[in-house]
Amino acid sequence: MFCMQCGQELIQKIFEEKKRFVCPVCGWVYYQQLKVSSAVIIEKNNQILLLKRAYDPWKDFWYLPAGYVEHDEDPRMAGIREVSEEIGIKIQIQENGLFNYYYFDDDPRGNGLLLVYVSNVLKWNMTPSEEITDYRFFSPKQLPKSLCGAGHRTAILDWVKMKNE
Ligand SMILES: [Zn+2]
Repeated sequence: MFCMQCGQELIQKIFEEKKRFVCPVCGWVYYQQLKVSSAVIIEKNNQILLLKRAYDPWKDFWYLPAGYVEHDEDPRMAGIREVSEEIGIKIQIQENGLFNYYYFDDDPRGNGLLLVYVSNVLKWNMTPSEEITDYRFFSPKQLPKSLCGAGHRTAILDWVKMKNE
């Protein structure tokens, strides 16, 4: 990693009580921030669509269609894009469609914020990508046991709670 001010390679050191990347020449500090990812709830007949992960972390665990938000991307657009890439379905995010957001600190790729949206399906065009090994609709009473971390498990259980209300 290189300094944004002078281009020097950064070094790791304790600064303001945390291990950070600091420029040894000009003193510029790289303050790492939370990652942002977007997930989407897709329902059919009161069942929720979950995907089974093909890769680590959480290989073989079930998760909501989701992915990281690009630096120049509206998180809602990232959700739409990820759904299309992972399973092929064309969706739109519902108006005021933020279901909830979840802080997570259990992902080896870094801590972050999972934004979860509710959607309307425009086209059921199921074409699973190689990122997943299975996909299925689950009713609130028949969820799979292994639910993915990084906010997904909590979000899915919140969806179940909402269905039971
Ligand atoms: Zn520098």
